[in-house]
Amino acid sequence: MSPIADPNCLFCKIVAGQVPADRVYEDDSVLAFKDIHPQAPVHLLIIPKVHVATLNDFAPEQRELLAALLLTAQRLAAEHALPGYRVAMNVNKEGGQVIFHAHLHLLGGRPLKGALG
Ligand code: AMP
Ligand code: ZN
Repeated sequence: MSPIADPNCLFCKIVAGQVPADRVYEDDSVLAFKDIHPQAPVHLLIIPKVHVATLNDFAPEQRELLAALLLTAQRLAAEHALPGYRVAMNVNKEGGQVIFHAHLHLLGGRPLKGALG
């Protein structure tokens, strides 16, 4: 079982308010903030407030938390009036994950082409 917070984790520090972030949404279980190096006009990161390192580390009992990440993406896409958007989660170094606190990327505000364009 993961710890609630990892003292060495950047995103846990953002959750705790120890590192600043441009927060756009927060509830009991998730936090969303602007990506510091946006790849699109809208580039948000949606994270669980508890520390979960990767998608592989979610327990079956955390299925509601996992669903909450996607429902938050849906909500924020509507709030930003995005006609279309992409959600992505990089998993492990080989999957492009750099920050090992699981996060959903929400990208929109420009045409997104193909699988990853
Ligand atoms: P990933 O490669 O999926 O682990 O993505 C990590 C993302 O976190 C990258 O898009 C970074 O630009 C973003 N990022 C890193 N540090 C911060 C920060 N302090 N605040 C907001 N976004 C960050
Ligand atoms: Zn963390």
